[in-house]
Amino acid sequence: MSSDSAADATTPTDPTTADADSTTTADATTADATADATADATTTAAATTDDDAARGAHRPHLRSFISGLPKAELHVHHVGSASPRIVAELAGRHPDSPVPRDPQSLARFFTFTDFAHFVELYLATVDLVRTAEDVRMLTYEVARDLAAQQVRYAELTMTPYTSVVRGIPIEAYTEAIEDARVAAERDHGVVLRWIYDIPGESGLEAADATLAYALDHRPDALVGFGLGGPEIGVPRAQFERHFTAARAAGLHSVPHSGESTGPQSVWDALTLLGAERIGHGTSSVQDRRLLEHLAERGIPLEVCPTSNVATRVVERLEDHPIRAMRDAGVVVTVNSDDPPMFGTTLNHEYEIAAGLLGLDEAGVAALARAAVDASFAPDDVVARLRAEIEAYTSGVTAAPS
Ligand SMILES: [Zn+2]
Repeated sequence: MSSDSAADATTPTDPTTADADSTTTADATTADATADATADATTTAAATTDDDAARGAHRPHLRSFISGLPKAELHVHHVGSASPRIVAELAGRHPDSPVPRDPQSLARFFTFTDFAHFVELYLATVDLVRTAEDVRMLTYEVARDLAAQQVRYAELTMTPYTSVVRGIPIEAYTEAIEDARVAAERDHGVVLRWIYDIPGESGLEAADATLAYALDHRPDALVGFGLGGPEIGVPRAQFERHFTAARAAGLHSVPHSGESTGPQSVWDALTLLGAERIGHGTSSVQDRRLLEHLAERGIPLEVCPTSNVATRVVERLEDHPIRAMRDAGVVVTVNSDDPPMFGTTLNHEYEIAAGLLGLDEAGVAALARAAVDASFAPDDVVARLRAEIEAYTSGVTAAPS
């Protein structure tokens, strides 16, 4: 889910169409994923359900292993990462907002019920980010929350356009995120990089503006150029020249595609936008040739299981095609998208992936390494994080049971 697709999703057709579009995605792999998840569950706890297996709920040791595992997060949206704690702080600054401030009401507001409610929560949060200081605080606090999950490196997807149209000058925005990045790395040891994404629903004007922010006001930590928002009715092709220019300036191409539309949009992202990783790419499993292409080229998918269920791209967690992706040899990374708003965390997404893929500790560590290798982190950060994962894994393995 792109954070900004929320704006467009208020039209009733978006989630409906996404749902219809997803039917074939889920069907292709249901039997396989469910069978294996079930088999795995029955060997450890006969009473668990398929859903428990998909959520990794039957393996508390694995949960503890994951929570301590050093990780990289590659697909997570800036405003979509605002936790209740952060939203309460923003609401306190802007008391005219309808967002509740007492903890109980706020907890209720954050309880995921359906996609329409997610849209309401997301837009309410967007409207609370009104000043450069709000941007700075949000960024710093999101980094703190990531660090608390042992995330050492994150590529945050930023949508500067939505802040600039709300009156924050791009110069102030850029300064705020860079200031927060430096402070978060110093205080919490988490290294941040930025991906600027085009909110697709806002059209070419937003694309032109986002490209200008990236090229003319480029923050030190900008590494990628993305495209979010609804895919239906927003062909990837119209943004070809923006991606060409961004890539020419040395930015990596990381568009969302194949989330709510079929595999053709993934092909378009690859051939027209030069995609080096694919945001979601869920429908890739409908096209064997596409899977082969992704595997051959080593183009990773940024998989966000809970988000895909929340947006009804996949009917149920146990139907998620992550196993078919992995079995086809595609590099799979696990990510969280808009975690507090979908009631999840990166650690929880790793638990889900472990359940769906039948992974033990070594398998989960390999998943974490895959994200590090698929990242655009500086070489020294990659080396450090790989070494940390290795040390953690051998330390945990060597510890007396
Ligand atoms: Zn997304």
